[in-house]
Amino acid sequence: MLMQDKLAYVTGVANHRSIAWAIAQVLDREGCRLALGYLGDREKQEIDKLVANLSRPPLLVSCDVTKDESVQEAFGVLGREFGRLDTVLHAIAFARREDLDGRYVDTSREGYHLALDVSAFSLNCLARGAEPLMTQGGGIVALTYLGSQRAMTNYNVMGVAKAALESGIRYLASELGPKGIRVNGLSAGPLRTLAARGIKDFSTAHKLHAERSALKRNTEMEEVADAALFLCSHLSRGITGEVLYVDAGYRIMGA
Ligand code: NAP
Repeated sequence: MLMQDKLAYVTGVANHRSIAWAIAQVLDREGCRLALGYLGDREKQEIDKLVANLSRPPLLVSCDVTKDESVQEAFGVLGREFGRLDTVLHAIAFARREDLDGRYVDTSREGYHLALDVSAFSLNCLARGAEPLMTQGGGIVALTYLGSQRAMTNYNVMGVAKAALESGIRYLASELGPKGIRVNGLSAGPLRTLAARGIKDFSTAHKLHAERSALKRNTEMEEVADAALFLCSHLSRGITGEVLYVDAGYRIMGA
């Protein structure tokens, strides 16, 4: 029970395929009390269908990370209901389909702002909200992807957003470290989720990943969830500001 009596706010559960849902289930199994974030009524209906699979009912907390008042309200609820927080999972990303399909050079100003706002600045919002509640220190974990480091086909503005997210992880880790709050990234290999469906030719990327990775296979959801558990728990207490790759060894391979 690595997360016994811990309190976590998990964002990004859209449906049963979400990476955040796999992580929520592992945290629950390890004794963590959960609050799940959701965007609107449609998303809440999806979460309502899932929660029976958890050992105890989670707190459901609405949060749209593009709206300051929504974030404030969410952390107000968490403060009132939980009193403190130990863990926050950031599993949020969005870009317009046309900004993923075309050339990066053609990204509109509006599309750029939207992708960076939802996918990168949102980590600041969650960290700022969580800081006063992490009175016993804590762990913030954000999901990222190799497209932050390399120009990956059809990842475009989302790669730029992930680069900003990863840089943000280091700045936040440096600032919040004195309070015992750790901030880390988890860079997952391609997984078949709703967000992944928005990426053109995702299936090709998925297939190439299995062919070229060191382990000669794709990344599995459970592997990402287990690594997230490690980053959330005291087992990783000496690690902050890092990005951990869970990609079956894809990144290390040369030509
Ligand atoms: P997912 O299930 O579609 O999750 C994406 C989540 O972002 C959804 O829950 C979505 O909520 C949420 N979101 C979007 N806009 C939001 C907003 N304004 N406020 C709050 N939440 C918002 O897809 P996923 O693949 O699990 O993605 C989770 C994270 O993993 C993302 O950061 C993604 O970039 C990262 N990642 C994914 C892969 C992959 O191959 N799938 C690989 C590496 C990293 P709604 O659905 O309610 O809009």
